[in-house]
Amino acid sequence: MAIAISLHELINFDQAQDEHFRKSADILSFAVNHPNFRTQVLSAPYRETYFRPAGGHRVSKTPAEIVQIITEGLERDTIADNTIDISIRQDPTIGAPVVGSTTPGKLPWRTSSWFIQGCTATGDTISPARHMIHEWLHVAGFVHKRQNGYRKDVAYLVGDIVRKILKQMATQKSELASALVV
Ligand SMILES: [Zn+2]
Repeated sequence: MAIAISLHELINFDQAQDEHFRKSADILSFAVNHPNFRTQVLSAPYRETYFRPAGGHRVSKTPAEIVQIITEGLERDTIADNTIDISIRQDPTIGAPVVGSTTPGKLPWRTSSWFIQGCTATGDTISPARHMIHEWLHVAGFVHKRQNGYRKDVAYLVGDIVRKILKQMATQKSELASALVV
């Protein structure tokens, strides 16, 4: 079954930012349903896969469990609905280089204004898609070992997979477009 992306709320976004982030949610749907996505999530070089269940102690998830959580759209404590639920509140108080902040298991998460403005101004839809799956994995319950600097965990590596797939798709699309023009 395909994974759906459900973008519920973009709070304090202006119209251009709202339209831009909706495009990113659309392409995130292509990425997570891409034929290579699950294989890449299964084989990513995780250094750790820490997950904090609601009210419970930290556990490690297997790559197969990571795929299952994403495929079933399991925000922490929700039932399997094959839907990745997203709500974002724009927060002008978050300073660069921090992109966003999520309370584990909770929506909406907060995304910095500098990031939203920058991606919208430059027409970058891939970075928000990567950011969305990263923060959503915190909503699902995955945590960083420490706040910054540690990049081989589930949120970072799955974000990297999304970005890689979307960059490849964009390249193929532009090659196809130039072939069609000829
Ligand atoms: Zn994070």
